[in-house]
Parts: sequence; structure tokens; C-alpha cells
Amino acid sequence: MPEIFALSAKPQGRLSSTAIASKKPPFERGSLLRTDRDDAIKYLTKLGPKPTENNSNLHRYIKWFGRYNDERYRSVYTLFSAMKSHPLDSTEFTCATFMQCKKNTSFLRAFTLVAFVITPDIGKINLCSNFWKESDEAQARALLHETTHFSYELTETGATRKTDYVYGSEAGQKLAKEPMMGPQSAVMNADNYAFFAADSDGNL
Ligand SMILES: [Zn+2]
Repeated sequence: MPEIFALSAKPQGRLSSTAIASKKPPFERGSLLRTDRDDAIKYLTKLGPKPTENNSNLHRYIKWFGRYNDERYRSVYTLFSAMKSHPLDSTEFTCATFMQCKKNTSFLRAFTLVAFVITPDIGKINLCSNFWKESDEAQARALLHETTHFSYELTETGATRKTDYVYGSEAGQKLAKEPMMGPQSAVMNADNYAFFAADSDGNL
């Protein structure tokens, strides 16, 4: 059975019928996603594959992934390198029906599902109708979130796909700060990547 990784969000307002009718792939959001992703790649490239622990630029990394160590940093660095080798232009967006969104998730969760990917598909993102209710920024984050679930382990990149422990900015930062396994969980949590990428000015 394929493994489904899904992003949930609280429903906001009514769904625009125009958005449903058009069924257009989210190209505008795609460009915001590109901005977030490129910014994160630029940040990590500047730090390099193995920065020193006292590098002051690590602030953004530590905010979302917790205290620095080489191995955990390496897994974040590797994931964004893997994303770089899978251009967004080749990402396929599909508008999923409610029944498709409901399949393999709980009935209640289907009502708040924004998007999902099916393992082992790489480069395919399925969008639920809730996706269209989100702001452009939230849509870009949702798309980046989903790209962290791609089965990169099937590629040469050495990256592993991420999972869902917690959702949201607050929960993600809290997870990163937890003293014991927090940072280890944060580097495995999809939403931490999405917020890290979107947080170029450190205000999230
Ligand atoms: Zn997810």
C-alpha cells in the first residue's frame, strides 16, 4: 500500500468556486515556492556542507532545526541539495477529488487536508480543494512541505524523505528546542523545512 504523507490545515473561509472551476496548477504559488526554496539553498550553500558550530549565521538553522551538530545539519543540507537536483519545472500538480483526499486518511482529516504525495512518486503533488483557501504564502509552504516527502532515498542524492510529527510555526520551533530528541525530530519534520525555507527575514 502506498504511504501517504499529508499536510493538514485549519479550514479558513469558503472555497472560491472560481478556483475549483479553473483547476489550474498553482504556478503563481510555484514562483513563491521557488523563492523560498532558492533562498534556503542560497543560505545553506553560503554556510557550506560543514560550518563551524559557532558560525553566527547558523541562527536561522538553529531556530528551525535545533542545536547544531554535523550529522543533523548534513541531513538538512542534503535534502535541499536533492531538491535542487529535482527542478520545479518538472513537478506535476494534480487537483485531487475529495474522495482521493479522503482515501488513506481519516474521514475527519480529509476535511482539512491541503495536499498530499504518494510514495514512491517523486515530483508529483496532489492538491485538495482546501489548498485554494490558503494564502499565497501558505500555499508555497504547503508545496515545499510536500516536496520534502518525495522519495529522495530512491535517488543518488543521499537524502531521506521527511515525515510529519508536528504542524505549524509554533509547534515546529518548540520541537527544535526540546532538549533531548527535539533536534533529531525537527530535522525529520516536513513543516520545519517549509517554515525554515520561508523564514528569510527571521520573522516567522
Ligand atoms: Zn506532510
